[in-house]
Amino acid sequence: MTKVIIIGGVAGGSKTAAKLKHLKPDYDITIYTKEQYVSYSACGFPFYIGGSIRDLDKLIIRTIDEFEGKGIHVKNFHEVLQILPNKKKVLIKNLKEDTEFYEDYDKLVIATGAEPFIPKISGTDIEYVYTLRNMVDARNIKKRLLESENALIIGGNYIGVELMESFIKQSVTTTIVEANTHLMKFYDKDISKIIQENIKIIQPTYTNIITSDTVTTLKKADEKIEVFTKKGKHFYTDMVVIAAGVKPCVNLAKDAGIEIGKTGAIKVDNKMRTSIEDIWAVGDCVEKFNIVSGEWEYIPLGSTANKEGRVCALNIAGFEDEVFEGVLASSVVKYFDYSMSKTGLSEVRARAVGYDVVSVLLTTLDKSKYMPDVKSITIKLLADKKTRKVLGVQSVGFGDADKRVNVLTMALLKGSTIDEFVNTDITYAPAVSTSIDPILTAAHILIDKLSNWFYFSLGCPTNFTNNLITFGIWQTNE
Ligand code: FAD
Repeated sequence: MTKVIIIGGVAGGSKTAAKLKHLKPDYDITIYTKEQYVSYSACGFPFYIGGSIRDLDKLIIRTIDEFEGKGIHVKNFHEVLQILPNKKKVLIKNLKEDTEFYEDYDKLVIATGAEPFIPKISGTDIEYVYTLRNMVDARNIKKRLLESENALIIGGNYIGVELMESFIKQSVTTTIVEANTHLMKFYDKDISKIIQENIKIIQPTYTNIITSDTVTTLKKADEKIEVFTKKGKHFYTDMVVIAAGVKPCVNLAKDAGIEIGKTGAIKVDNKMRTSIEDIWAVGDCVEKFNIVSGEWEYIPLGSTANKEGRVCALNIAGFEDEVFEGVLASSVVKYFDYSMSKTGLSEVRARAVGYDVVSVLLTTLDKSKYMPDVKSITIKLLADKKTRKVLGVQSVGFGDADKRVNVLTMALLKGSTIDEFVNTDITYAPAVSTSIDPILTAAHILIDKLSNWFYFSLGCPTNFTNNLITFGIWQTNE
């Protein structure tokens, strides 16, 4: 019987196990995890912390008993200490009993994920300073939050911003400190500026945003934490969450001689195979091929981990035509009613990888202007001047911003030109869109621009209910 060991059981590991068991019921599959839980949605933690999901266990997708019921063994509180590829064995520590033993495998899957990146700050080990990665973290953060009046989040990207919403929902005044000039640094500056303005507007009394500065020191001061920043800010807070990004857990792989990519994550091919035979890797511990930039990048996301798990299982089961082509760096975040979404390259990134970028920035309505719930969205659409290939889109707003991003993903995957994309037959009804959808309007303007056709600035009075923008505008970068 083929014996499969999977190290790590959250998104990548559990998806691989479930799919493989489905394909090969006779395989002997065991997940080893050093944690108590497997198969949970870390993406749901902000909703538990903010109170919209009361019971943390609701975030468990599949319990250990459910796995066992399907014939998949789960060994929790078991840490894999070493991989011995020549002997096809792993060394495992039973953390509860403090014992070690070897287990052999025919196929091994590394799904060790990522861990929070801790910037160089003095005092990160004191009480009430947290990171958020697993169920225990989520529970601890919520417990402290409920006894707090104010909190500090270090890092203003998507987890920091999602957490700020959760904290404010629990009536906790929240300061966010971001080293970059704006929050949400993966967006171009013109978009992240708009994002930040709106984040300030949404909950002004509870929100304090500090950018272009870094926290240098955290000190315990009775039940509070004293905070010092590089630019001389000094304040007290009840708790701190460090949300400054993650780094891949690759030590096991590295020690076993498995190739690590230039991003610092495990190198895999499009079948999720590592450089050593019979060892696969999936999820946040592996680097991803960015289809638009043509480069290997580190873009750790749960959506990707699940897709990789599926492809990994299919290949282990012998369906070797199945490949994972790569990612487009698609993401979406919601902050209260405000959506931020992107796919493909930002303008900065596109220029960095050598594209001659033409872009259009359009603020418009998400549905027919006479609809009572009409809202604004801002779209930035990019194409390459020479090939006219679509390169990416960023879309933000109180309206339905992210669906405009999703329609572009197929065009990016297929390397379509803007002229091919513009023929996309997008649905329309007044309650959901405009007769020409905003993403197609953006595409029309981009074509005008690329073709040097005559274009002009258009002002259209609107009845927006938010106080961001009172006119729909076109802006162009050339
Ligand atoms: P992990 O989730 O990191 O799991 C790895 C597991 O392996 C862990 O349990 C770890 O303890 C275990 N392990 C590691 N080393 C060993 C060892 N030596 N022995 C045994 N066990 C080991 N993604 C999205 O796509 N959309 C979102 O909206 C989103 N929101 C998020 C919000 C938050 C707050 C967080 C924290 C993450 C979010 N993510 C989101 C990211 C997503 O959760 C991760 O991409 C996903 O969890 C990665 O899964 P993974 O299985 O690769 O790794």
